[in-house]
Amino acid sequence: MTNYCGAGMKITYICDICGRPQETVELEDVEIEKLGINTLTHIEKEDIIKYNDEQGLLLYSLCPACFEENYLKEQQGPELQ
Ligand SMILES: [Zn+2]
Repeated sequence: MTNYCGAGMKITYICDICGRPQETVELEDVEIEKLGINTLTHIEKEDIIKYNDEQGLLLYSLCPACFEENYLKEQQGPELQ
């Protein structure tokens, strides 16, 4: 595997529930600022952002499947176990 060594930073979105990488994007520094990461407090950053040499910046968020699943579970109650 070849590591990306360009000017931008690689960002990988990872699902907070299933842990699967969703997508990897490469952003310039300016674009990273647009994400609002720089405006997070230090504690918030540590909670949702990790850094990994292979995957770059890791951003934790729910993938559409897990979001939908949890959203539906809330709608339908706990009977789906
Ligand atoms: Zn997921």
